[in-house]
Amino acid sequence: MWRAEGEQAQAMAAAARLLAQARRIVFFTGAGVSTESGIPDFRSPDGVWARYNPRDFTFQRFVASAETRAASWSRLLKSGLLDDLQPNPAHRAIAGFGAQGTLDRVITQNVDGLHQKAGVAPELVVEVHGTARLVRCLGCERRFPTPLLVPRLEAGERDPRCDECSGILKLATISFGQAMPQEAMREAVEHASACDLMVVVGSSLVVNPAATLPLYALEHGAPVIIVNREPTRLDRHFDVVLRGQAGTILPALLDAVRAGA
Ligand code: NAD
Ligand code: ZN
Repeated sequence: MWRAEGEQAQAMAAAARLLAQARRIVFFTGAGVSTESGIPDFRSPDGVWARYNPRDFTFQRFVASAETRAASWSRLLKSGLLDDLQPNPAHRAIAGFGAQGTLDRVITQNVDGLHQKAGVAPELVVEVHGTARLVRCLGCERRFPTPLLVPRLEAGERDPRCDECSGILKLATISFGQAMPQEAMREAVEHASACDLMVVVGSSLVVNPAATLPLYALEHGAPVIIVNREPTRLDRHFDVVLRGQAGTILPALLDAVRAGA
């Protein structure tokens, strides 16, 4: 295991070797893989939690209060999530492993759709916290693309309702206090357990149950690499710890594998 800063070159070489040998790689990504696309994460010093109170984000409050819903839609309009976001070199490198034929799944906590936009086949992306690309009716379960709702929000609707059943509309994301999507979690656990290498990218690994997914890989004997700017509480269990920017480290690893690491 390589951890010290001065040993980053050795750690990069070890990670490249693991990636070159693996046949069923699972990437497990968090908000940190998208910060270089301009989307703030939650827990960095300039992250979303620095500006908002997590208690305002619960599902129960969203359902109970029209004011909370209005605040939530207005926050979405200002969040940048609706902009024409572009994948960054980290997303593209992960897609590059898909082109190598060794990518089993990308399990992501992100709701931004950037892995698919970078070229990972949609059926290989498991979104365990849902997606902001869709709006869901909590009444009739109808789903539709978020851009269809934006003009209504911009026109001043504060608590937009479903055209079909007048139900409460919510982004198809998983909020605190909301049940995890069963099928996505089942698929995530299955692939985390069966991969022969997991690469964790840009996650503080504090949000459960998603953050337990690397433990399934470890329990089944797969090595785990982490690429993250800051330490996490699980680092001591991982085989290689790479500290730095995902958009720099992942393309370098892909290059090394392509060059025959
Ligand atoms: P987090 O904010 O808790 O942690 C992000 C981690 O990524 C931090 O440890 C940070 O040091 C690291 N990081 C930030 N930029 C990085 C970079 N360029 N390279 C390497 N590491 C970097 O994020 P989380 O663990 O994903 O949990 C937050 C929850 O918030 C997730 O469940 C997710 O659903 C949601 N979220 C999603 C988005 C998105 O879709 N892009 C954005 C914010 C939050
Ligand atoms: Zn409805």
